[in-house]
Amino acid sequence: MKSHQIVIVGGGSAGITVAAQLLKKKPGLDIAVVEPSEMHYYQPAWTLVGGGTFNLESTRRPEKSVMPQGTTWIKDRVTAVKPVDNALELASGEILSYQYLVMCPGIQIDYHKVSGLKESLGKNGVCCNYEYDSCSYTWEVLKNLKGGVALFTNPNTPIKCGGAPQKIMYLAADHLKKHDLLKKTEVHFATAGGVIFGVQPYKAALEKVIKNYGIKTDWHHNLKAVHGERKEATFDILEDGKPVGEVIMKFDMIHVTPPMSAPDFIKQSPLADANGWMAVDKHTLQSTGFPNVFGLGDATNSPNAKTGAAVRKQAPVLVANLLQAMAGQGLTASYNGYGSCPLITGYGKLILAEFDYDNKSTPTFPFDQSKERLSMWWLKKYILPWFYWNKMLKGNG
Ligand code: FAD
Repeated sequence: MKSHQIVIVGGGSAGITVAAQLLKKKPGLDIAVVEPSEMHYYQPAWTLVGGGTFNLESTRRPEKSVMPQGTTWIKDRVTAVKPVDNALELASGEILSYQYLVMCPGIQIDYHKVSGLKESLGKNGVCCNYEYDSCSYTWEVLKNLKGGVALFTNPNTPIKCGGAPQKIMYLAADHLKKHDLLKKTEVHFATAGGVIFGVQPYKAALEKVIKNYGIKTDWHHNLKAVHGERKEATFDILEDGKPVGEVIMKFDMIHVTPPMSAPDFIKQSPLADANGWMAVDKHTLQSTGFPNVFGLGDATNSPNAKTGAAVRKQAPVLVANLLQAMAGQGLTASYNGYGSCPLITGYGKLILAEFDYDNKSTPTFPFDQSKERLSMWWLKKYILPWFYWNKMLKGNG
């Protein structure tokens, strides 16, 4: 049985950032990262790929190239967590033990919860920006659209980047407008939710954007089936979160944001809360049941927006608290729920929403961030990807 002082599960945004920061603070630490993928992805740019304005290949790099020097990469998948035994089961059949554990395996995309979705994706105008392999097809659909009905869905589960279902819709509407096709197209936001955005002043700004493009909002519509060949989508109509009827909508294109949940192996572990997410103290990021276990990123139940921006603020808190736990001290670092959503509202236009656990706006810049700005578009398209690869993943962000 292999054993490491610290084991990190998931070498995505959170795992690599935490490993890099830990080694910067304490170069001698024995850290292993369990990550099955050969590639590391910069997912926030997939929206831009879907909008035809970012190169797909540059959103990924070999995992090996981002793994911090001094860590042991275990190229395997965790299948079970046994926190009582301080051990993990791996897909290879190996058992891996740890003194301290950091859980950050991201979120699971539940295609199977929408009937016909997996089979329909990638043809007949059915697209999705949520994977490397599928986001280019969004642009193919969009650039060939000549009018008709364009549907953009948003499910009734937590998702990563809550703004992404809308961002691609605004890019699509702007593209259609530029090509004089918006008048010939009904653009619908079919969402399980009942508001466009939860935080003011961004909500008011987005309502204006919706109005200007003439987008129709279908509230409390939860996608349950897609039939690509018939070009039909079936939605449950929700009342108090429960289905009370259904509606079938025809489409010429549909961008689907699938339902998501915690990875199954977390749901089945003693680390999970009642909804399957990894249960952490929302300020210290320590597991609520096991003091030598910490968690961050999309897989936990801390009630922040699930974004890379949140990971950037969580990582130093987790690192400080983990090192304090290892030294037998009390945990003093605290995460305030910061999340950010760069809301693309068209080509060259972006509203930078930033907020905390209390849905209080927490702007970085000394200007009104609820205004659409070209400068914030540049930030999203050029500065943030550079910052991610060169600073955040190196433990300097
Ligand atoms: P990930 O980065 O997803 O990493 C999880 C890692 O765990 C993966 O490498 C995976 O292979 C690994 N893993 C999974 N299961 C196992 C297992 N069983 N064992 C071991 N390893 C495992 N964020 C923003 O801040 N701004 C944006 O504009 C933005 N836009 C987005 C647009 C789209 C289309 C998408 C898809 C995401 C967007 N995000 C955005 C969200 C952001 O990418 C995520 O919130 C962030 O990557 C979360 O980091 P993570 O480390 O928790 O998960």
